[in-house]
Amino acid sequence: MTASTPLNPALTTWTGHEGLPRFDLVKDTDFAPAFEAAFMTHEAEIDEIAGNGDAPTFDNTVIALEIAGDELSRISSLFWNKAGADTNDTIQALERDIAPKMSRHYSKIGMNAALFKRIDTLWQNRESLGLDVEATRVLERHWKGFVKSGAKLAKDEQERLAAINETLAGLGAKFGQNVLADEKNWALFLENDEDLAGVPDFLRDAMAAAASDRGEMGKYAVTLSRSIIEPFLTFSDNRALREQAFRAWVARGENDGETDNRGLIAETLALRAEKAKLLGYDNYAALKLDNTMAKTPAAVNGLLMQVWEKAAARAREEEADLAKLIAAEGRNHDVMPWDWRHYAEKLRAEKFNFSEGELKPYLQLEKIIDACFDVAQRLFGITATEKKGIAGYHPDVRVFEIRDAAGKLVALFLGDYFARSSKRSGAWMSSFQSQHKLTLKNGTVGELPIIYNVCNFAKPAEGKPALLSLDDARTLFHEFGHALHGMLSNVTYPSVSGTGVSRDFVELPSQLYEHWLTVPDILKRYAVHYQTGEPMPEALLGKVLAASTFNSGFATVEFTSSALVDMAYHTAETQGEPMALEAATLEKIGMPKSIVMRHRSPHFLHVFSGDGYSAGYYSYMWSEVLDADAFAAFEETGNPFDPDMARKLRDNVYSVGGSIDPEDAYKGFRGKLPSPDAMLAKKGLAA
Ligand SMILES: [Zn+2]
Repeated sequence: MTASTPLNPALTTWTGHEGLPRFDLVKDTDFAPAFEAAFMTHEAEIDEIAGNGDAPTFDNTVIALEIAGDELSRISSLFWNKAGADTNDTIQALERDIAPKMSRHYSKIGMNAALFKRIDTLWQNRESLGLDVEATRVLERHWKGFVKSGAKLAKDEQERLAAINETLAGLGAKFGQNVLADEKNWALFLENDEDLAGVPDFLRDAMAAAASDRGEMGKYAVTLSRSIIEPFLTFSDNRALREQAFRAWVARGENDGETDNRGLIAETLALRAEKAKLLGYDNYAALKLDNTMAKTPAAVNGLLMQVWEKAAARAREEEADLAKLIAAEGRNHDVMPWDWRHYAEKLRAEKFNFSEGELKPYLQLEKIIDACFDVAQRLFGITATEKKGIAGYHPDVRVFEIRDAAGKLVALFLGDYFARSSKRSGAWMSSFQSQHKLTLKNGTVGELPIIYNVCNFAKPAEGKPALLSLDDARTLFHEFGHALHGMLSNVTYPSVSGTGVSRDFVELPSQLYEHWLTVPDILKRYAVHYQTGEPMPEALLGKVLAASTFNSGFATVEFTSSALVDMAYHTAETQGEPMALEAATLEKIGMPKSIVMRHRSPHFLHVFSGDGYSAGYYSYMWSEVLDADAFAAFEETGNPFDPDMARKLRDNVYSVGGSIDPEDAYKGFRGKLPSPDAMLAKKGLAA
C-alpha cells in the first residue's frame, strides 16, 4: 500500500440502518490495504498510551486501551464474517496472510514493556484506586493478558513466543480451510431408486438441491454437511452406501495430499506445549484453564471421567439392543459406526412409535424463529421486528430490530440460516459491534450491539418450506441464546461485554435457552404442520419428550471421548504422534468400536482451527451442568417463564457479560453452585 491509496470509508464508518455496515459498499480487495492502515493506527494509539508522560491512571491507561483499535475491530469483524460465512478465493488467500499478521500485531502490544509497566503499577495499587467490581475485573483481565502474552519474559523468549503465536495462527487457518476443502470436494451422486431406498422426501429434496448446487441437475447428492450426512446415515437402507459416506465423513482432514491435517496437528501441539512451558505452566491445558470456572485439568478430567463411566455403560446396553434388531432382520454383522444411527432410528421408531422424519413437517424454520423470539419476549420483554429490504452481507441474510418493553432499540440481529458452499460448516454467533457505555474518540457514547447467527440448514427446493430436524431447531435456539447474551449485555467496558466471559461459562446462556424449545406451550404453538397448520399431536409430543434420553449413551460417548482426547493432547508429558495418542486415549477409556468421536482429530475444528476450544471442548459439558441446574430453577417454580426467576437470570447471567466472576454470577441467579446430578438426570444417566 502507498500513502496515496484511499481507504474505503464503508469499512469503518457504518452508515446503514441504525449503524449497520453498508455491506454492499465493501469489496474483497478493500481489506488488505485497510488492515495495513488499521494496524498502524492502532499501534500509534498504543504508543501514545504507553508513552504518556503522566502517571498511569485507570482512565489514561485502561479506558484508553479499551477504546483503542476501533478501526481495526470494525475491519476485522467484517472480514472474519466473510471468511466464515461467505468466503471465496480472494478472502481465503487474505485469511492466510492476515491471521499471522494479526497475531504478530497483538503479540507486539502484549510485549510492550512501557505499557505493561503502567498496567502493572495500576494492578499493584488496585486497592487504592477506588475501582468497582467491573473495573477491577477489566484491569485484572488486561494484566493477566499481558503476563500470558509474555510481558514478564526476557527479550529472546519474547521473540520466540511471538514466532510461535504467528505460526500457530497460520496453522489454524490452514487447518480450517483443509476441512472445508475436503467437505467441498466430496459428494456422492445418486440417481436410481435402489440407492435412495429409505431416504425420506425432505432429505431427497435437500440432496437434489445440493446436487444442482454442484451442477448435477436431476441427481441426488450425499454431501458431508451435517444436515445431509446425518439424516442419510439415519435413513438410508443401503448399508454399502452408508459405509462409503460415513468413511468419507470421518476421514475429513485425513485424506493424504494437500488437505491432510495430521502434520498440522503435530506441529500445533508441539508449539502449544512449548508456549505453555515458556509462560511457566506445566502444560497447555493448565495455561488455558487458568482463567476459567473449572480452573485445573484435574477438575475437568474429574468431571469427564465421572460422566464417561456412566455413558459408556449405557452405550454398551444400547449397542446390545441394536445388535438384536440387526439379528432380527436376519443380518449377520456387528454394530458398526455406519449402522448405529440407522438402527437407533428404527429402535426409536419402534419404542416410541415415531420417527424423526415425522417431526419434520411440524418444524418449519419460520415458526421456530418466531418461537425463539416469543420465548425472549416472555422471559426478557424484548420484541423482534424484521426489517425487509435492508441488505445483509448475503442475499439470504435477514435483519431484525430488537426493542425492549418500552420500545427502545436495544440491538440489531442478523439471521443467516441456510447452508451454501461458501460457508464453513457448523453454526455460530458473532458480532459486528458489541455493547458498552464508554465514550469513543469520535464522541460517540456507548454502542448498540449488532449480533448475527449463522446456521447451515439445508435450503429447501424452490417453493417448498424450510423444514428442520429437532436437532436443527435446538441449534437455532442455541445460537439465539448466544445472540441474547450479546444483545442483552449491559456493561460499561467493551472487553467484558456479552460473550466476553470464560469459555466454560459462555455456553450457559445458549444451552440453557435450548430448554425452552421443548416447553409444551411453545411446541404446541409453534410446532405446527406446514400444510395443515395442525399442532404436533399431543401423543407425538409426549413421545418426543419421553424419547429425549433415548440413545444418550451414544451421544455422551461421542462427546466425552472427543473432550478426553482434547485434554490428553494438551496435558501430554511428551508430544508423540498425535493419531497414536488419539488411539491410545480411546483404548485406555475403552471406546466402543461401534462409535466414533464426535470430532476426530483431523477435523476437530474447535480445537485446531483456532485456539478457542483447545483444552476447552469439555466446556460444553461444564455448561450443561450449569444449564440443567439453571432450568431446574424454573421447573421448581412450576412456571417455565417465572417472571422473578427470569429477572434474576437476566440480571445475573444474560446482562452482566464478564463484569463479575462466573461463580458469583451463577450464585446470584441460583443462590448456590450446581453439581453434575441435574445434568446426569436430564440425560437419563443418573445412577
Ligand atoms: Zn454455543
